[in-house]
Amino acid sequence: MRPIVIAANWKMNTTPADAGELAGTIASRTQAPGVTRVICPPFVCLAAVRDAVAGRGVEVGAQDVHHELAGAYTGEVSVPMLAGLATWVILGHSERRAYAGETDELIGRKLDRAVAGGLRPILCVGEVLAEREAGREVEVVGAQLRGALDGRDPQALAAAGLVIAYEPVWAIGTGRNARGADAAAMATAIRTSLAALGWESAAAEVPVLYGGSVTSTNIEEFLAEPGVDGALVGGASLKPDEIAGICARAALTAAARGLAS
Ligand code: PEP
Repeated sequence: MRPIVIAANWKMNTTPADAGELAGTIASRTQAPGVTRVICPPFVCLAAVRDAVAGRGVEVGAQDVHHELAGAYTGEVSVPMLAGLATWVILGHSERRAYAGETDELIGRKLDRAVAGGLRPILCVGEVLAEREAGREVEVVGAQLRGALDGRDPQALAAAGLVIAYEPVWAIGTGRNARGADAAAMATAIRTSLAALGWESAAAEVPVLYGGSVTSTNIEEFLAEPGVDGALVGGASLKPDEIAGICARAALTAAARGLAS
């Protein structure tokens, strides 16, 4: 049974002085049986968020990690540095692909490091607007999955808790969300791509999230789709009312899918 995951990507927002208070408020207001809640703040806020949510059922993730363990990589953060701070990590976010030039090959190396270090990865994939308009979204996302996953052990990655986030780039931070049916079609395409990589059994086990301008108002149409297992939420995750509404709807899905205990 795949879990329902609501992951908050705070991006480059909050400071160590205010992140703990926001995380604590969110932890109190998002209690949702059967829903895995994850907050991914900036690196410098990880300790504050970890302390604020300790014992409250909210997990903590990093927004990226370096592909080497240590060395001359000024400004970077490695997997061992995250020990005790984070148990999840977002990899291949479109903002890192666009602004930091991350390639699928590099993202695959980060994935290896993350899994070896016990971090649970959220691998982001998604097409840009021109690719969607050209009808190339399945091809593009399939190539991203192949580039990051080919040659890797599907059972090991599934056992490590790999999550895939389908995030159409044109929907991220734009207020223009995809339709639930688009997200469902892409979740199916993602599982087909995984199966084509030889991941037949793992393909059905890996949770697929939708991300891109999710709000408490539109979350309904994504979670109504049986192939969609939650959301990666950016802007709305900084607003307690919004993320509370998103998690409340996710709790209904968890109950309907027999996940709430
Ligand atoms: C994201 O950062 O992954 C994201 C989906 O952002 P937003 O919800 O703001 O579109």
